[in-house]
Amino acid sequence: MKKTTNQSVNVITDIYCDACGASVVPQFQKEHNENLNDFNEFGVLHASYGYCSNQDGDSFHFDLCETCFKELLDRIKSLRTFHGLNS
Ligand SMILES: [Zn+2]
Repeated sequence: MKKTTNQSVNVITDIYCDACGASVVPQFQKEHNENLNDFNEFGVLHASYGYCSNQDGDSFHFDLCETCFKELLDRIKSLRTFHGLNS
């Protein structure tokens, strides 16, 4: 005999870019997956700073679409060039 219970579960149905608001999930994935809880094919910018640092305990997390992530990469490449770092 199996004992059952009714439980509500949070299901991720879409993920939006924190920079432009577009969905980061291809339509095909949305149509063929019951939930997107394990979907991880998108850019993420994450930072946590300790206390007494300049950011003093701040934490940042941004989900990014492919286009915005590419723009961020271009910006990092520009910064590397500005600071004299190659590639
Ligand atoms: Zn975006």
